[in-house]
Amino acid sequence: MTEALAVRDLVAGYSAAPVLDGVSVAAAPGTITAVLGANGAGKTTLLRTISGLVRPRAGQVLLAGAAITARSPEDITRAGIAHVPEGQGVITELTIEENLRVGLLLRDRGQRAAALAGTYERFPVLGERRRRLAATLSGGERQILVIARALLTAPRVLLLDEPSLGLAPKIVAQVMDLVRQLRDDAGLTVLLVEQNARIALAIADQGLVLNLGKVVARADAATLAADEGLRRHYLGF
Ligand code: ATP
Repeated sequence: MTEALAVRDLVAGYSAAPVLDGVSVAAAPGTITAVLGANGAGKTTLLRTISGLVRPRAGQVLLAGAAITARSPEDITRAGIAHVPEGQGVITELTIEENLRVGLLLRDRGQRAAALAGTYERFPVLGERRRRLAATLSGGERQILVIARALLTAPRVLLLDEPSLGLAPKIVAQVMDLVRQLRDDAGLTVLLVEQNARIALAIADQGLVLNLGKVVARADAATLAADEGLRRHYLGF
């Protein structure tokens, strides 16, 4: 089967020394891949390189078998990859609906109203407050808003960077449930970057561990979660 997303021998960084040093990822359609590793391992850089924000020096990114390496972020979004960066990047000065409309900019005008209505049906908490400023939302609601905004681009692949960051455990569980539903109901392929390896592996199908820009382990999620050495050295649980 063609992988929904494949990364082959990716080398990328910001200065002379590469941050990613030959990273490969293979994600089957409708699966969650947890991308784990300590601070500075290169997880965010991997997502930024896939979505076109960082230019790779070598290697390939393939979406459903088609090369999208080094295309512009806009082209990559149009091709079907949505990136939710770390830090609940809502535009607090805009209303919830205005934030969501950013996700619709690349969609045909004729599809926008129905897509927005679908979002409000799926996430009533956003619909009820659509005219309020995004600044009035809690951290968990902001995380839902940025995921909903990413979904409005109609992606096949969702890149999620630390969605649990700064959220209370109960809210983290809700966000993880949503990610699981996106895989199970919508068949989305998800790359999930998490510091919290335990919760990520609980919903992931497979995972990989990055250390200093290299993949040091990859396996199905249950195998990684059961590996005590890996947990002690890299996963922190
Ligand atoms: P974290 O969980 O801390 O975000 P990470 O695994 O996502 O860690 P990256 O953010 O990809 O790691 O960072 C990897 C390395 O690249 C780090 O050494 C970091 O200092 C460096 N780095 C990240 N962003 C930049 C940048 N914009 N310019 C220069 N160096 C950067």
